[in-house]
Amino acid sequence: MTPLLEVTDLWIAYDRIAAVRGVSFHVGAGEIVTLIGANGSGKSTILRAVSGLVPVSRGRISFAGEDLVKLPSYLRSQGGIAHVPEGRGIFGNLTVQENLRLAAYARRDNEIYSDLKGVYHLFPRLGERRLQWGNTLSGGEQQMLAVGRALMSRARLLLLDEPSMGLAPMLVREIFRVIKRINEQGATILLVEQNAHLALEVAHRAYILETGEVALSGPSAELRHNPQVWEAYLGGT
Ligand code: ATP
Repeated sequence: MTPLLEVTDLWIAYDRIAAVRGVSFHVGAGEIVTLIGANGSGKSTILRAVSGLVPVSRGRISFAGEDLVKLPSYLRSQGGIAHVPEGRGIFGNLTVQENLRLAAYARRDNEIYSDLKGVYHLFPRLGERRLQWGNTLSGGEQQMLAVGRALMSRARLLLLDEPSMGLAPMLVREIFRVIKRINEQGATILLVEQNAHLALEVAHRAYILETGEVALSGPSAELRHNPQVWEAYLGGT
């Protein structure tokens, strides 16, 4: 079966310095795949390339069989790719509810209201705060809102960049529980994460990046129980 996302021999440079060097990976429909690795190994850059926020020097990014490399970012998002960036990207001067409704602006179906209720069910805190401005939410609540927006867009592929960043441990657990739940409900997820332990707990498969290259890949369960993985690539943590 063709994977939903297939990245082949991807090269990306900033000011002629290669940040991503010949990376290949794929994400099957219904999977959670994680990219993990040290700071600066190129994880966020790869997500930005998939959503079209950085240009690619070489390689192929194929989504549902279509090559994305020349497609502008807004068409990728209309085509079903939702990027939840580090730093979250919500609208601070809109309410929680407005943020969520706006994320569904391109939809023409009549299930927007039931999806809104679904998001409030997943994140009761957002329901309680639905009339509150985005910029008055805590970091964790903003993260929930960013994920909620991606769900409202009914994306076929969610790109989650460091969902645990800056969150208290309890909220990190909550976010990861939701990631698992939305995957069980059918969402395909490409997850970039600093917290390799949690990422390997939730993902089906993982790719470990080292200075812009894939050093190792495999089922999360195998990588998680391999002590060499932790010693060699993940800082012995
Ligand atoms: P982190 O976990 O710290 O966010 P990462 O694995 O996501 O790291 P990237 O943010 O993709 O790594 O960065 C990969 C490399 O590209 C790093 O060396 C970084 O300094 C460099 N880089 C990232 N963004 C830019 C930019 N806008 N201009 C120049 N260099 C950049």
